[in-house]
Amino acid sequence: MSTSAPTPTTSARSASEPAARRAVTVLGLGPMGRALADAFLQAGVRTTVWNRTPGRDRTLIERGAAGARTAEEAVAASDLTVVCVVNYEAATAILRRPAVADALKGRTVLNLTAGTPGDARATADWAADHGVRYLDGAIMTPITTIGTPHGVFLHSGPADLYDAHRPVLDTLGGTHTHLGADIGRAAAHDVALLDLFWTAMTGYAHALAVARAEGITARELAPFAKGIGAILPPIFEQIAADVDDGKHSGASSALTSAASSMAHIVQASEAHGIDSGVIRAAEGLARRAIGRGHGGDGFSRVAELLGRR
Ligand code: NDP
Repeated sequence: MSTSAPTPTTSARSASEPAARRAVTVLGLGPMGRALADAFLQAGVRTTVWNRTPGRDRTLIERGAAGARTAEEAVAASDLTVVCVVNYEAATAILRRPAVADALKGRTVLNLTAGTPGDARATADWAADHGVRYLDGAIMTPITTIGTPHGVFLHSGPADLYDAHRPVLDTLGGTHTHLGADIGRAAAHDVALLDLFWTAMTGYAHALAVARAEGITARELAPFAKGIGAILPPIFEQIAADVDDGKHSGASSALTSAASSMAHIVQASEAHGIDSGVIRAAEGLARRAIGRGHGGDGFSRVAELLGRR
């Protein structure tokens, strides 16, 4: 595993080789796997597909994909196999079958399944032991962005392997960023960013419940909720700088003020009998920092506190 800070390389679409001469196999035809296969097909890449449950390949076959009867037949059809299933348990259940592992020998797997950095490292170890070249990746945007300029793909693993397969990956459109040789790095970004996404979504669900209890419909709140979303990007940048620089100035908003604002939300929520567990946990973190003498600091102090071992 690399310990030095990698230099991410980001690319938009490149067209060094005609897409028609390229081939790819897609294992896993859930909504995302189907979107990936469809984008490859649209770009003229020879695409072979397989899914555990038969029948999900029908529309893709109508559009020109080759439907394989088995996973081993599918991976034998292309030098590059893209795996996109529900989790690594499912991915390894497919890849570790002896017939599939044999067929993959000398070929490349790009695993775009969401998982943990540990999952990615364990799968890379398995691949190395079985003569399979391995890249790991994460997709940060919904299926509607695949094949458009709006998709965001993160990749990690050997740079030469990534470069070799980039022409095919670029046919998915969007932005592809190679984060370095440490195979767990894409998954590490993925879990951190999904942490942000799901806690924000849970906050939104709670906000809608509190608003509804006060007779405010979700549609009425939504424009203001979008306004909250819009103020976040500069705040993210400022907190990132504060965390990296170890400065936690509360000049514009102190933790004591933040904790007081959170306490109002807990109160209003519990007055309506609404579960306040998430906002209580947030208030608890702010109060912990205050209890350690950081009440005058800014919110970045919470990140520093959580990161202490
Ligand atoms: P799911 O996460 O529901 O995955 C469905 C796929 O997983 C199907 O192909 C399913 O096969 C397969 N699968 C489940 N269990 C097994 C198993 N035990 N063995 C073999 N295959 C199995 O749907 P998505 O396609 O949406 O997501 C795929 C990946 O993409 C996930 O890791 C997800 O987090 C990620 N992703 C999805 C996004 C989205 O917008 N949908 C956005 C960004 C990332 P079967 O049909 O046989 O059940």
